[in-house]
Amino acid sequence: MARDVFSDGALAALNGALEARDAAGRLGWALARYGDRLLLTSAFGPGGGALLHLWATVNPGAPVYFLDTGFIFEETLRYRDAMVARLGLTLKVLTPTLEKGAFLSKYGLTVYQDNPDLCCEKNKVEPLDAALSGFDGWVSGLRRSQGGARGETPVLVATEGPTKVHPLVDWSPRDVYAYQKAHDLPEHPLFEQGYTSVGCVPCTRPPLEGEGERGGRWAGSGKTECGLHTFLKTRGA
Ligand code: SF4
Repeated sequence: MARDVFSDGALAALNGALEARDAAGRLGWALARYGDRLLLTSAFGPGGGALLHLWATVNPGAPVYFLDTGFIFEETLRYRDAMVARLGLTLKVLTPTLEKGAFLSKYGLTVYQDNPDLCCEKNKVEPLDAALSGFDGWVSGLRRSQGGARGETPVLVATEGPTKVHPLVDWSPRDVYAYQKAHDLPEHPLFEQGYTSVGCVPCTRPPLEGEGERGGRWAGSGKTECGLHTFLKTRGA
């Protein structure tokens, strides 16, 4: 299967059909279409267990890609390893070209504050971009209920690279946690401390009252996305 080239009408029709399916049905569709050219990325954050469990159920043994920027919480690494063991996941770790020490020496000790877009570009976008060249479909856990620019996300997004697939797009936080409870999945250790979204240590705090699920990410900077979900040019509607 080569990379998709959709007309606007075909993409809209497909999205309409997939919107009517449940998350497992959307994943099954993606697996049938892309086979081993389908990749799943996970940040192993709070609520991440639901999609990981679905992936392990629909596509057992298939790899899960995790970006280790060098700034990841120890709690995330522990949670990641626990989920890998629990679900029998095949973990693939993507790393930046420069490890943390060399990166900070080159760009400055507070680059994540002074230029977070550059920091995310080097530590997140570039390693993922390199990995995506081997895939035609890319599954991730984006949900409309995460708010902000994610509020209008379709099931499928056609890009200049792989087609993005969002099986949980219409799930609420309540749906995620109900699924995890029903399957007795562990939760990220920081969730009980109020973290509802967890990225890198310097750029993550628990959201304040009234802030959205991702309100504690790059707080006060105006930045809301690392760029992983926005760097690929989209095609069609
Ligand atoms: S989230 Fe923060 S520390 Fe992580 S790559 Fe982006 S700017 Fe750097």
